[in-house]
Amino acid sequence: MKQTVAFEPHAKNVFFHILTQCNLACRHCYINPKQHGNLSLDIGTICKWLDAFSGQDSASNVIFLGGEPTMHPDLDKAIRHARATGYKSITVDTNGYCFHDILDKTDPGEVDVFSFSLDGPTPEVNDPLRGKGSFETCTKNLQKAVARGFGISLIYTVSSGNLNYLDQMPERLAQWGVQRFFIQVIGLRGNAASGNTDLTQLTRSQWNDVVPYVAERAARLGIETTYPKVFLDPGESFECAGKVAENFFIFPNGRVYRCPLCEDYPIHSLAFENDTLKPVPGLQEDRFFELSIPEGCVMNKLIQPGNMEYDKNGDPLYKVACCLLKERVSHPHQP
Ligand code: SF4
Ligand code: SF4
Repeated sequence: MKQTVAFEPHAKNVFFHILTQCNLACRHCYINPKQHGNLSLDIGTICKWLDAFSGQDSASNVIFLGGEPTMHPDLDKAIRHARATGYKSITVDTNGYCFHDILDKTDPGEVDVFSFSLDGPTPEVNDPLRGKGSFETCTKNLQKAVARGFGISLIYTVSSGNLNYLDQMPERLAQWGVQRFFIQVIGLRGNAASGNTDLTQLTRSQWNDVVPYVAERAARLGIETTYPKVFLDPGESFECAGKVAENFFIFPNGRVYRCPLCEDYPIHSLAFENDTLKPVPGLQEDRFFELSIPEGCVMNKLIQPGNMEYDKNGDPLYKVACCLLKERVSHPHQP
């Protein structure tokens, strides 16, 4: 069963980059030190910033990110603080190195999901993209996390460098015991935006021909699979998550964005000042969310205009969806 995942208006999703350092140097890395700095937040600050989004009127979910969040020596304390202050779900996105014995220092009652990033079904595909030895380390720790009883998901970032191997992933995931599969699209952010990589985004037909088919196959193996919608079907209405959902992308230099496509620019709409979250005045991302254009997402049109195609009258052939709008494929026998 395929369904478009609607934006949840009363759920806050807090994507918390607690540091920007990482042991790897992936070719498509989206961290941009010029914009995001190179700080590692101390545990006191992490807890105060978590408190700014917890409790009261709506349920909050937190996703701890980096850099590599497990390089932070106090990640376990941050997880416990989030749990104690009412966060509805806690996810850790890791490159698989799982530093500071994080799989032993936490348990499945504290972390809902460890989400592992892997970009190929074999070391030969994955390691040239993510780093030598990363396949072996990631899959070893992934299987350890499965054995410890954690919820496990896997993120595969599709680019021209690994598109042809995506269809080998469903069987590997089933073999490893992965429950959820996120197929991500390489974006024009970080290395890709600065021209530091030769990897390219997929064309519309490459995406439509391959990704839904692989998602369906994974779902038939019992793995719930999610991928960005990217292109809206005719008649589907466009919504900007910056207007209708509550997503917060926090960076350790205090910037807080509502839209991930804006993260390479100093147009964050919120910022922490002395540990208090404040709106940033002026021409910031929230002003772009209000614009209505026939192409759909305004930020896509501004920074990734190559995603668009037009007819001979100059009208767009389709709308590009919000980058946060997802399709989810699952089968009824799944738990
Ligand atoms: S693991 Fe993440 S933060 Fe580290 S280099 Fe790769 S994409 Fe960047
Ligand atoms: S990706 Fe586009 S539609 Fe989504 S929040 Fe950003 S500007 Fe809005």
